[in-house]
Amino acid sequence: MNSLPQNTLSEKFRRLEAGCRASGLSLTHQRRTLLRCLVRRSDHPTADQLYEELQNDVGGLSRTTVYRILETFVRAGLVTKISSPQAKARFDANTGKHHHLVCEQCGRVADLFDSGLNLRGLPEENSSGFIIYDYEITFNGLCPHCQSIGEEHKS
Ligand SMILES: [Zn+2]
Ligand SMILES: [Zn+2]
Repeated sequence: MNSLPQNTLSEKFRRLEAGCRASGLSLTHQRRTLLRCLVRRSDHPTADQLYEELQNDVGGLSRTTVYRILETFVRAGLVTKISSPQAKARFDANTGKHHHLVCEQCGRVADLFDSGLNLRGLPEENSSGFIIYDYEITFNGLCPHCQSIGEEHKS
């Protein structure tokens, strides 16, 4: 997994902390721990995965609390929620414009940075009457791990 160097991570964490303060969110121990965990992981974890990682470190943390904190972060624009109809929502502390690659076999999500895919503006009119806030493109395919499993089966 491509993990960022430590100083980039703490820089990102500081920026998110500042974002919390700017949105009037008090930085409780639970929120800080969750934010730190999200910044460290680049695999777009689900709320359940975050809960499993943190339940032993954070006293009194419940699944519901994790969901609630994540929704608060999403509403404040600090974290992006990647919803897909066939899987659980995943969370991403990288709110810079990027797109996603989703493995149809194992559900793994990877980032795709390609500014050529970015729209110049959001569609202004749509027949469904939606107000559009944002967009991201999801490409479905097979991750390297699942490809290698496929190869093994062939040989
Ligand atoms: Zn896969
Ligand atoms: Zn991402």
